[in-house]
Amino acid sequence: MTIALPMLLERTEALPGGSEKLQSTDVHGELVDGFDRHIEDLRISITDRCNFRCTYCMPEEGLQWLKSDIVLTFPEIVRLARIGVDLGIREIRLTGGEPTLRPGLPSLIRELSRIPALESLSLTTNGFLLRRLAGDLAEAGLTRINVSLDTLQHDKFHQITRRPFLDQVLAGLEELERHPTIRPIKVNAVAMRDFTEEDVVAFARLARRKPYVIRFIEFMPLDADGNWERERVLSGREIKAIIERDFMPLVPVPGQNPSSTSRLYRFPDGIGEIGFINPVSEPFCATCNRIRLTADGQIRTCLFSIEEHDLRRPMRAGATDQELADIFLRAVAHKEKKHRINEGEQFQRASRSMSQIGG
Ligand code: SAM
Ligand code: SF4
Repeated sequence: MTIALPMLLERTEALPGGSEKLQSTDVHGELVDGFDRHIEDLRISITDRCNFRCTYCMPEEGLQWLKSDIVLTFPEIVRLARIGVDLGIREIRLTGGEPTLRPGLPSLIRELSRIPALESLSLTTNGFLLRRLAGDLAEAGLTRINVSLDTLQHDKFHQITRRPFLDQVLAGLEELERHPTIRPIKVNAVAMRDFTEEDVVAFARLARRKPYVIRFIEFMPLDADGNWERERVLSGREIKAIIERDFMPLVPVPGQNPSSTSRLYRFPDGIGEIGFINPVSEPFCATCNRIRLTADGQIRTCLFSIEEHDLRRPMRAGATDQELADIFLRAVAHKEKKHRINEGEQFQRASRSMSQIGG
């Protein structure tokens, strides 16, 4: 049976509200995988839909959307998040698709921010709706944000996102500056050869002018169109060399967590920060502490997973918190050792593309 969308939203998006911290669940276990990695970071995709069509992520058209009745409701997301936190999750990042498209996002953030022992709650967004939403998100308890922005030129922005919305994204970033409880403001740019090079210095200048941490992330083979080629990966090392050659030397930010995915640098006078996330040229799988929950309630233990672990059906069939916790624990026990992007024939593309996984 198809349920009309407005009815579904009304039925599913109601959250209890209130400001007190939630009680913890009573589940047992610890999320440690077969390689002794402690899993503390959960990425939750709350929709597979998007208002952009970035060429490195989605096809122009033709992607099959998840049916709305299999997308997790907010109470279901909160329940699974609480179980995850009781098993050791300390950071939750909401993503998609484009998470700001989900009606009532601030109420979900408010509820997640009440989970005891959750240390970090963040959002990854393309920024298009931020001008309108930033205040509500801050008020709901969001404290960290990543905004994706791959170029500062209008024509290139249109080319890469297939949408002419650069000004809206920049306005969204400006709006964030008015909300100091959401810090740092991170800007993520996917780095692609023959595209990104000419934007590198402009981004470096922006990082000095604005309170943004600008990070370049290497292009990964997760695009729905399947156009990824190794030659198109512009490495962090190459970008750093461009900045140091054409702009200014960079100095490592002191005290960085060695297990962090990004390498952060400052300029010699201390103004601005630039980072590099190099999953292709310098894989960080050995210290990966992440799992993902898709919008339809599947655990993925690696971006490149071929197999998923279903939480939605058992949850809807009445599973207890401990039974759901056991699914988390079993999934994590089988977490992949590493991705195989650099292993030629051994590499198998992931079973879904980036917007369907939740990057
Ligand atoms: N729509 C939101 C956004 O764009 O920020 C959240 C979802 S998006 C899938 C999450 C992140 O994945 C974005 O920063 C995006 O740039 C990145 N991404 C998407 N496809 C990628 C790819 N093939 N390689 C590297 N990063 C990618
Ligand atoms: Fe949408 Fe984000 Fe994918 Fe771009 S990267 S198409 S904004 S989900």
